[in-house]
Amino acid sequence: MSGETRPHSPAPGGGDGTSGEWEVVIGLEIHVQLSTNTKMFCSCPVTFGEEPNTHTCPVCLGHPGTLPVANERAVEYATRIALALGCRIADHTIFHRKNYFYPDLPKAYQISQYDLPLGVGGHLDVELDDGSVFPVGVTRVHMEEDAGKLVHAGGATGRIHGADYSLVDFNRGGTPLVEVVSEPDMRTPEQARAYLTQLKGLLEHLGVSDVNMEEGSLRCDANVSVRRPGAPLGVKTELKNMNSFRYVQRGLEAEIERQIAALEDGERIVQATVHFDPVTGSITTLRSKEEAHDYRYFPEPDLVPIEIDEAYVERVRASLPELPAARRRRFVADYGLQAGDAGILAANRPLGDYFERVAELSGDARLSANWVTGDLSAHLNSAGVGVEESAVAPEALAGLLALLGDGTLSSRLAKEVFQVMLETGREAEAIVRERGVGQISDAGELEEIIAAIVEANPGPTEEFRQGREKVLSFFVGQVMKQTKGQANPQLVNELLRKHLAG
Ligand SMILES: [Zn+2]
Repeated sequence: MSGETRPHSPAPGGGDGTSGEWEVVIGLEIHVQLSTNTKMFCSCPVTFGEEPNTHTCPVCLGHPGTLPVANERAVEYATRIALALGCRIADHTIFHRKNYFYPDLPKAYQISQYDLPLGVGGHLDVELDDGSVFPVGVTRVHMEEDAGKLVHAGGATGRIHGADYSLVDFNRGGTPLVEVVSEPDMRTPEQARAYLTQLKGLLEHLGVSDVNMEEGSLRCDANVSVRRPGAPLGVKTELKNMNSFRYVQRGLEAEIERQIAALEDGERIVQATVHFDPVTGSITTLRSKEEAHDYRYFPEPDLVPIEIDEAYVERVRASLPELPAARRRRFVADYGLQAGDAGILAANRPLGDYFERVAELSGDARLSANWVTGDLSAHLNSAGVGVEESAVAPEALAGLLALLGDGTLSSRLAKEVFQVMLETGREAEAIVRERGVGQISDAGELEEIIAAIVEANPGPTEEFRQGREKVLSFFVGQVMKQTKGQANPQLVNELLRKHLAG
């Protein structure tokens, strides 16, 4: 791989990539299930969570004499991914058999790609929280099929260890997969997490996968090694099948710590697959890693080569949506957003669309961005839903921002009204009218205003203290003037008496 000899600029944002005197080297392999209607090499539907073994056929069950046929839509989706990552598309690509036995693989080989993958030589520009960008090389993008799913029963953990028996569900077997292999360009677990997050956003943008990590639509393997800065690459281990961003980061941190401790104790790192247990935070070594030659790859004789001409590539390229990196730049240039907000909005296509609609309706892009990345996103995250499922439509949020803009609502009240909108799905104006919250009924906010007015008027204050009750109306007038008549009069009276009493 070219990454081993490529010069690296110091990695921005995540430190200098060294842990003490050690430099960390991370590469990620991502498997993404494509959201095609049918499987990679047969016409069974792609499903999730259905009755086991109800979406199978002789082809995906590997019966003798059956013949696979490549799914044209899957090839198109894979091409979209490769192009979006800036890869060169091979004009001639073939499938290989990767031979190994496992109970979830009835053919005893997986149809994959080997030395002639669909796409090579791409990269993803990863933006860090501080707005800096670092490129991660993409070695290759290739197509393959998923295996079935084993269900380990009778044990406490659902894992194979301690289970009484295992069941196999072949519904998943043959689901189209794309594997994206990165160069070993990442130097910290934070960078790995940022790459994974942004790759996920890109895949979602492309509309090629539901990228649901809990359901296994997006899975991540991480290769990690440590070395003295400037030394040749160390021996790497592979963390397999991590299905959340947090596990990837925590798993890498734990494995890096283990490797450094072992090396400093004079031990050698053995190339192996390791497992991270998120409950205990511990690492266990599973097995030594197979070499490529152990799989006895050979060209799949039942599938024809795929010849891709330039016209096809250009057609797919023309169909790509605006990609997150371009969108991020546009949000900064056209709307004047901060890099951080632009990055959040560009990474999530529906959220970015939502923001653009609110910005257009409200005429205030920065305020719109604040609300969409702030209160709205906080709610969506805690509810675990996407913006499409939000009870507040862009039109409704723009309505709230209008009330904020014309002074009907203070920002504190606007947040309160927004919570009601989220709970009830009602319009801001209706809530304000019904509850009278357009008046400033917030004691804390009024107290500040009143305290300042009392302090600024020592003469009238003294008069009031000497018993001239009618001076109170002077103060009420001042408060109403400053709150544009929106203060709750009863509350103003109450608070004024309290403050004037000293
Ligand atoms: Zn099938």
